[in-house]
Amino acid sequence: MSQPKVVIIGAGIVGTSLADELTARGCSDVTVLDRGPLFATGGSTSHAPGLVFQTNGSKTMSEFARYTVQKFVGLDAFNQVGGLEVATTDARWTDLHRKYGWAQSWGIQGELIDPQQCQALHPLLDADRILGGFHTPSDGLAKALRAATAQAERAIERGARFLGHHEVVDVLDRGGRVVGVRTATGEEFDADVVVSAAGFWGAQLGARVGLTVPLVPMAHQYAKTGQVAELRRDGVGADEARLPILRHQDQDLYYREHGDRLGIGYYGHRPMPVEMTTLLTETAGEPMPSMLPFTDDDFTPGWAASAELLPALGDSKVEEAFNGIFSFTPDGLSIMGEHRDLPGFWVAEAVWVTHSAGVARAMAEWILDGAPATDVHECDLYRFEEPAKSPEFILKTSSQAFVEVYDIVHPHQYRTEPRDLRVSPFHARQRELGAHFFEGGCWERPAWYEANAPLVAELAEAGMTFPDRDDWSSRFYSPISIAEARWTREHVALYDMTPLTRYEVSGPGACAFLQQLTTNNVDKSTGSVTYTLMLDESGGIRSDLTVARLGDNLFQVGANGPLDMDWMLRHAPADGVTVRDITGGTCCIGVWGPRARDLVAPLCAADISHQAFGYFRALQTFIGSVPVTMMRVSYVGELGWEIYTSAEHGAKLWDLLSAAGHRYRAIAAGRIAFNSLRLEKGYRSWGTDMTAEHRPAAAGVGFAVSAKKGDFLGKAALDTASAPAKVLRSIVFDDPAAVVLGKEPVSIDGAVQGYVTSAGYSATVGRSIAYAWLPADTAVGTTVSVAYLRTHFSATVHAEPVVDPDMALIRR
Ligand SMILES: Cc1cc2nc3c(=O)[nH]c(=O)nc-3n(C[C@H](O)[C@H](O)[C@H](O)COP(=O)(O)OP(=O)(O)OC[C@H]3O[C@@H](n4cnc5c(N)ncnc54)[C@H](O)[C@@H]3O)c2cc1C
Repeated sequence: MSQPKVVIIGAGIVGTSLADELTARGCSDVTVLDRGPLFATGGSTSHAPGLVFQTNGSKTMSEFARYTVQKFVGLDAFNQVGGLEVATTDARWTDLHRKYGWAQSWGIQGELIDPQQCQALHPLLDADRILGGFHTPSDGLAKALRAATAQAERAIERGARFLGHHEVVDVLDRGGRVVGVRTATGEEFDADVVVSAAGFWGAQLGARVGLTVPLVPMAHQYAKTGQVAELRRDGVGADEARLPILRHQDQDLYYREHGDRLGIGYYGHRPMPVEMTTLLTETAGEPMPSMLPFTDDDFTPGWAASAELLPALGDSKVEEAFNGIFSFTPDGLSIMGEHRDLPGFWVAEAVWVTHSAGVARAMAEWILDGAPATDVHECDLYRFEEPAKSPEFILKTSSQAFVEVYDIVHPHQYRTEPRDLRVSPFHARQRELGAHFFEGGCWERPAWYEANAPLVAELAEAGMTFPDRDDWSSRFYSPISIAEARWTREHVALYDMTPLTRYEVSGPGACAFLQQLTTNNVDKSTGSVTYTLMLDESGGIRSDLTVARLGDNLFQVGANGPLDMDWMLRHAPADGVTVRDITGGTCCIGVWGPRARDLVAPLCAADISHQAFGYFRALQTFIGSVPVTMMRVSYVGELGWEIYTSAEHGAKLWDLLSAAGHRYRAIAAGRIAFNSLRLEKGYRSWGTDMTAEHRPAAAGVGFAVSAKKGDFLGKAALDTASAPAKVLRSIVFDDPAAVVLGKEPVSIDGAVQGYVTSAGYSATVGRSIAYAWLPADTAVGTTVSVAYLRTHFSATVHAEPVVDPDMALIRR
């Protein structure tokens, strides 16, 4: 849509940034409505202290922050005092090394410094209390209100209008599309596009149009001290902050200067979710509805910890304070996207000032060009599973996100609550085997099985080594998983593949639809299985799919998650195609390993010899009396099948396969073994190794793009694409004990050139294998260095796949 008529609800930092970004792209018919006065509207932006720390575990969020800094500097709305995060515990000091790694991976300048250097930067610090700090010179203070005003003024010059005291009470639609909004006074504004940039009010607005916006308004304490002698300065600009913004995350605290006073933000208190209906009644007519009275008791530990770190506070006290409201989400990330059932209604919510301009730019690109240039899947409105849309889930997990906002969170850390929302029919059996469950997509997924512990000793006796791990990498891990991986390659193992998202795509238009939507040729015979990709208009990888043709007009599609359903439904024609999520009603066991055929064949009604049942074929048959769909595919790179059945037959299927497996010493194996085996085989994981930011050839999945078939979504962009600057490569670590976990920077000849995506220990080669994005001309055999916490590991770029390049294991 090149020149839509746009209404933005909310003139906070997000609404004003978006108006600026849209008008800068020539879209000048933009009206921004706010319930409050302009521009101190009473929303979160009005009193945001504006600290911007750019470095984040998410590459996307870091990019959003980097752009925000760059833009606000240009608007003279940023005080680039630098950012300093200090460690008072050994765990935090190690974690700051990890953070420094992210900064290097995402291209943000920073350095680790000792306590004296920290104190030199921030003289209020007691150097004896800290172990070191991470300093980022380009971080600083966003002057949020000034940035909002400056962006609004620019937008107004380009034709936008801003109206205060205009509360939107209704979103208008006609013929299934947005056509405008109505305000509390009954005034109507026409629009092709309505964007809710209403901050923590966004969930309420979403509900009006039947949309779950999973955010929780949460109160957070912010206090200003009285005068601090050490901060006193005279003369022009004395009020302008000079010290770096400071984080003391071991005690959930952050600080900034306000003239000769210190501002203190505190996340260490209990989560304080705000009940919106009560808030709206209690703050009706108030100029600052996002500010609640300060609750002194909650701040007591924060003050004590502050006085310890910054002894100069000793004689001061809190003089001005409030509990400010802003949004938290189940995974701590923003929410962006268009309402699928009401085209034209968009949301951009749960956005910090830190990320505001980056989010706004991506939104403008998305609205006007059809896709943002940055990969935004982590922030996509449709990333949540169905149970995750329940009020209970949203409240519990968003409260947890508040608690963890400054915590050291392990990359494999999984939710501890809510749990058991989705369990496969094999769950009871898995518990009997001592499964250690991780949560993912609300599913309970066995990571490894204690029942396999004796295999560790057995394999060690046979000469296999199980390298010791450091404290960090041994969390959420057991050496049993390495034994399970080895056992799979030597014998046979059962993997619970139930959580793998799958859809049934059916109807007379099903084949044409999948042909148009994906890159490979799926119009093959019944029984064919095809690995294929979904691309966006610009040729970026939206997902990878395994498509099994089960009939002329019937396909089973293995996908990655809710975003795939969203993408398919957005592109499915109105008639002739039905897309149905069959994940919960079905289940799947992967039976893989050299003895897989020996195990399955006696149970199976059909001939499953290599000749009769070839690789990448599907068959509907029976295992015992259980009706199954078998697919001869293997994400772990072994002989075997994914065996699907409906949920009611699941337990029986498990029991049949387990009983038959005794003879071959079959085991149940978990996700960590699975991940290790797929890394060995060169198989990519969408969302981690490749995203919409990458094109197929660069990501090493160019083989899934058919040169012979006709047009498909994204083809035009691929046809004109230039050679990629970076490609995804496999690296193998030189030291058998080296382990990395993902996102670490990778250097060549002393300069950071890329970053790790995923990694795992390979039982087959006896070393860790990782994928890394590296310059396209990096040759096989190149030595690279990977920074991991406080150390570096050398590794070698390896030809792919590292294991079984001839596919001999799969095709036996
Ligand atoms: C105490 C505190 C400290 C913070 N510190 C930082 C920090 O240091 N760094 C950082 O990056 N972030 C910080 N934040 C978070 C940050 O302030 C917010 O995330 C950000 O300001 C949200 O911007 P927004 O534009 O989405 O929302 P808002 O600024 O709340 O704007 C939303 C606007 O929508 C309007 N609106 C709502 N409903 C309607 C309706 N129906 N009709 C018309 N208008 C409507 C509201 O009046 C409001 O003006 C802090 C927040 C708080 C509370």
